[in-house]
Amino acid sequence: MATMHILQAAPLTAAIRAIVKGTGSSDREADLVATNLVEANLKGHDSHGIGMIPRYVDSWKEGGLAVNAHVSITLDANALLRLDGNQGYGQVIGYEAMELGAERARRHGVCVVGLANAHHIGRIGAWAEQCIGHGLVSVHFVNVLSRPIVAPWGGRDARHGTNPFCVGVPRAGGDPVVLDFATSRIAQGKTRVAYNKGEQLAPGTIIDTRGDPTTDPRFTVVEPYGAILPFGEHKGSGLALICELLGGALAGGTTQSGNTARGRQVINGMFSILIDPTRLGTAENLARELEAYVAWHIASPPAAGVERVLIAGEPERATRRQRLADGIPVDDATWNEILGAADKVGMRRADLEAIARA
Ligand code: NAD
Repeated sequence: MATMHILQAAPLTAAIRAIVKGTGSSDREADLVATNLVEANLKGHDSHGIGMIPRYVDSWKEGGLAVNAHVSITLDANALLRLDGNQGYGQVIGYEAMELGAERARRHGVCVVGLANAHHIGRIGAWAEQCIGHGLVSVHFVNVLSRPIVAPWGGRDARHGTNPFCVGVPRAGGDPVVLDFATSRIAQGKTRVAYNKGEQLAPGTIIDTRGDPTTDPRFTVVEPYGAILPFGEHKGSGLALICELLGGALAGGTTQSGNTARGRQVINGMFSILIDPTRLGTAENLARELEAYVAWHIASPPAAGVERVLIAGEPERATRRQRLADGIPVDDATWNEILGAADKVGMRRADLEAIARA
């Protein structure tokens, strides 16, 4: 059992913020990055939380991540926006892209946003939640340019990334529906978390270098690599393909076949559709049907071992409440990597520890 550090969200955010500042970021950039990463941990997605900071620092040192970069508008056609993320921190680029798209969606009823060339944009649910904050429904298809790590259905080696898909639906006066998942059996970061904790993966999750089943997470963390399997067999594999075509190609960027990401760099492309239900004239219908349908959906008698049927977004909110109260668990290997990242930006480890545990 790996040693765990229990850290409170506010000082942990301050510590991550200090590392980001160490890469030369503005206060706003450091705030956006640190808040977004800690929020992912609060929501239970440690794979997309503060554990990404060492990779961001390495990518920055290699010249793969641009600090203080902003979104550029490469095409502005009212309800269509094509954006370039200029390899900037994805937490800034994703935020700016969604703010631009939301303003257009409120004005025109809909906005299609093609975002290319952003550095890692993290948990995609964050962007759906931002749209929900503007009263918008949103759909997101994302591709991932780094070393391919997911095999197509029926294949023996990796041909694409964990290509996430996400939909957010606002709910007047209630908790929204946020469906947000990687199209791989598990997120790549979760294999890293398992590897760092010394745990095995569930059978049927990954394959080894020969394309045969294994439960050892090393095959997706250290060379020589195997691959993660797609979720949902041929259906999930098909959705991952669509994420390449929409998130990579249609959004104006690159698919895995033309992948130029280097070193520790992770580039995301995202194709998003933002819809204002008020402008579509269905806001009241959506609100009424959503309440009726969710009540019907969750009334299904729970299966053996299940407490109750949940809707997408609920597990994250429950984890968030619990971790805000009890603190965020960070395994020792991940924490050491974060201390190493502090070193690389010229911070003393003891200073980082002091901020994180204040
Ligand atoms: P996951 O397997 O935990 O699935 C999460 C989704 O399933 C959520 O919508 C959640 O609310 C829902 N869910 C979970 N349990 C449920 C239950 N019992 N009943 C109903 N709904 C339930 O997520 P994942 O695939 O591990 O993805 C983790 C995160 O990684 C996501 O936020 C994703 O956006 C992110 N990601 C990002 C990238 C990138 O390149 N930026 C790549 C891959 C994944």
